[in-house]
Amino acid sequence: MDLSLLYGRRELVAKADLPEKIPAAVQLLPTIEVGTTRIRCLRCNATTPLKEARLPRGQSYCPQCLNLGRVSTLDQFYHVAEPNQFAPIAEPLTWSGTLSPLQVRVAAEVKDSMLSHEQRLLWAVTGAGKTEMIFPTIEQAIRRGERVCIASPRVDVCLELFPRLRAAFQSVPMVLLHGRQEEPYKYCQLTICTTHQLLRFYHAFDLLIVDEVDSFPYAANEQLLYATTQAKKTTGGLLMMTATPGEVLQRQIKAHRLAVSYLPLRYHGHLLPKIRCVQIDYRWQEKLKQGHSPRQVGVWIRQHLRAQKRFLLFVPHIENLADLRQCLQRELPQCSFTTVYANDEQRLAKVQRMRDHQYDFLVTTTILERGVTFPGIDVCVLGADEKIFSSSALVQIAGRVGRSSQCPDGNVTFFVKENARNVKAAYQQIKYLNRLGRRIQ
Ligand SMILES: [Zn+2]
Repeated sequence: MDLSLLYGRRELVAKADLPEKIPAAVQLLPTIEVGTTRIRCLRCNATTPLKEARLPRGQSYCPQCLNLGRVSTLDQFYHVAEPNQFAPIAEPLTWSGTLSPLQVRVAAEVKDSMLSHEQRLLWAVTGAGKTEMIFPTIEQAIRRGERVCIASPRVDVCLELFPRLRAAFQSVPMVLLHGRQEEPYKYCQLTICTTHQLLRFYHAFDLLIVDEVDSFPYAANEQLLYATTQAKKTTGGLLMMTATPGEVLQRQIKAHRLAVSYLPLRYHGHLLPKIRCVQIDYRWQEKLKQGHSPRQVGVWIRQHLRAQKRFLLFVPHIENLADLRQCLQRELPQCSFTTVYANDEQRLAKVQRMRDHQYDFLVTTTILERGVTFPGIDVCVLGADEKIFSSSALVQIAGRVGRSSQCPDGNVTFFVKENARNVKAAYQQIKYLNRLGRRIQ
């Protein structure tokens, strides 16, 4: 048995398969607490009515974390307490870039806070360069022989982070874990994983960094919040990062229950672009189906085409894409554009063609709200007041604009039929950050 695979982990073993002699370091932990009417899963913390958790012969299982392999009362966990068995590394950080003076200040604050293993939120606007800002914190932890994890609810974020961290910490052994991969788990000082994978760890990390805490499915998911608390050591530090904290985090900040570091300026030192709202016909969706696009949207598009300013047009629903495409092809036959959505097989190719300036604009659902950067573009959102756009999503969409230092500003227009809560919240969030930003600009 390779005990290192159990360091800070909980591995399921069927009780029937337990060997007679188990190494002294291995602890056997229970998997499920059986009550009189409900069971509680000790892996995901979910409770389930007994009758929905029943197996033959009076045994029970947890139906709520089946995707990680079935946990039942027929099993136990193997666990070995995290020993921090890492070879010392004198110069872990091999990154040679530099931080702006503001980034340096925030990076130092975060680093100090993680030295004493606090819980903290790093609230950095989109395009602030937050990954680089946490390099000093990671470096400090590695030097101290700590076990470090960077987790994100989104696989694509993990896939993007991994090569960047490998380049920045070339001598630090690291492992990437997510549900779709085939490579086996190995014990490393630095782990990059999806938040779901945290359920397999137990009191492992001295420093746990969770990126994009506001994003689906993490934000409102009790299972994943529990995964976070039990994956780190009880004495471990927790750094959450986001560009758009949801209401729960904002309430905690206001009540001073959560320490926060702000980075309200983008890496080039400019503020977030302001949102402009334009009211459109209450029945725009029906009219779009009948072949008429909202007049104000047409005006906005024509202005942009005349100025040769490229843009992204967001719509709330996939079915709006085809209707809008037909309208625009008829109304503006000379312009070149395409539509794109999450499961579009051509998605990557279309995004690349937009990068290559083959389109004047893209019409898209919310999939392009994060991550995708086109220098010098504007954005508009048709139906920004629709519920499908959370205030976080709207702030992220606005954050697509002004990301490059050549074009640090731009136009963000929301076409709405009424004054909705999500739009107001996004507007206020940007106003708040810009007020903080102006103070230090
Ligand atoms: Zn469970």
